[in-house]
Amino acid sequence: MYEFAVTPAVTQLRRRGVEIFEVSPGTIAAELELERGDRIMRVNGRAVRDYLDFRFHTAGETELTIDVRKSSGEDWELNIERDESEDLGISFEQIVPRQCANECLFCFCKGNPETARPSLFVRDEDVRLSFLYGNYTTLTSISEDEMKRVIEQRLTPQYVSVHATDLDVRAYLLGVDKTRADISGKLQRLMDAGIEIHAQVVLCPMINDGEILKRTVSDLAALHPKVTSVAIVPLGLTRYLNDPRLTPVTPEFCRKTIREVSEMQRDLRARLGTTFAFLGDEIYLKAGRAIPARKHYGEYPQIEDGIGMVRSFANEFESLMRRLERGSVRPSAKPLSGTIMTGTLFAPVLTKLIDRVNQRLGTNVSVLGVPNEYFGGDVSVAGLLTGGDFVAARRQVSGDFVIIPKVTLKSDEPVMLDGMRFEELCQNFDVPVYAHDFQGLASMIANQN
Ligand code: SF4
Repeated sequence: MYEFAVTPAVTQLRRRGVEIFEVSPGTIAAELELERGDRIMRVNGRAVRDYLDFRFHTAGETELTIDVRKSSGEDWELNIERDESEDLGISFEQIVPRQCANECLFCFCKGNPETARPSLFVRDEDVRLSFLYGNYTTLTSISEDEMKRVIEQRLTPQYVSVHATDLDVRAYLLGVDKTRADISGKLQRLMDAGIEIHAQVVLCPMINDGEILKRTVSDLAALHPKVTSVAIVPLGLTRYLNDPRLTPVTPEFCRKTIREVSEMQRDLRARLGTTFAFLGDEIYLKAGRAIPARKHYGEYPQIEDGIGMVRSFANEFESLMRRLERGSVRPSAKPLSGTIMTGTLFAPVLTKLIDRVNQRLGTNVSVLGVPNEYFGGDVSVAGLLTGGDFVAARRQVSGDFVIIPKVTLKSDEPVMLDGMRFEELCQNFDVPVYAHDFQGLASMIANQN
């Protein structure tokens, strides 16, 4: 999926060391006159490639020798003594993602319009981002250095796109040869070193479903608890990703998959004490089937991959309704009247929840399922809606405000996938627009003090 947690600097040259982005006033780094633009080259004689290296080499060290290349070109050597818990006060440039060497049939980059932002074409395959943000890697091109680093720095957990344990099928899906597709040795080495693995299967009808999927789940379950969970998410086709080898995911396919996987899940729960292989929310919604209960998801091990998001949202909603009933939170003083815009897949679920609020509180909030024209195809999740999609649907909104899903904005900047900024979006509406997650919505519905 699209990763908003990093801003890939695709044009940036990878230079030695790691660049300081900011120095907090009143800290050790400020006293030592470190500044934005300076680069940390070594810590205690060990080379620093990025902020993860810096974090690893400085962790728990009270005496540090830091080699710095100042932005002026001067080289400094700084000797520092500090208390173990004392922060140096430096934040660093973001990690420049490593690129993958695959040609996946279903690669999301092929599903972008040509005019999409360059960062949407970044094919990241980076164990550091996997550790930091839960990005998936395939491990097909991981270098020996990277393997050693994951183990030495304990970059655990790692999120691995397995897709199929059948090597012919995996190689076909990734567009690589069987030797590269075979990651069993690498996986074993990581697991032996205590690295936890979360696996993913992008489910492509007629390719890695049915018996292939059963075998994949069964092979991975044999590695539990070192492999902690498997997320099975459906192939997403946009109007630009129309490879004839790919078959669209239909409601009937989703129902068949739920039937097959439910049987395996029952067995896995009995044997392993966890559901282990989780189907993406999209599969239940497309099938028109109920989302499983809370206990199905355990600790929600793959919620960032769309596994259990709807259950979590619905349960938080129930809890809000109970607090309203008990009077432990009060409804907003002014009865609400407005529109919540969301993806067409989630809209029916949200409509049922909001209808209860309207009945209970006398509010007049409506839910508008917004078609995704930007990507087209069968893309219907809220998180991939763009500014242009919201603007195209603006005539259908009613009331005094509009809410869009917060997840449609980049995490570190108010901009959407089509590059439209939030301020620009707001200018297209006659009423205030808010970007909210569940907490934001709840705080509009109820006074939570
Ligand atoms: S691993 Fe596959 S899906 Fe991911 S970026 Fe590379 S080609 Fe695309």
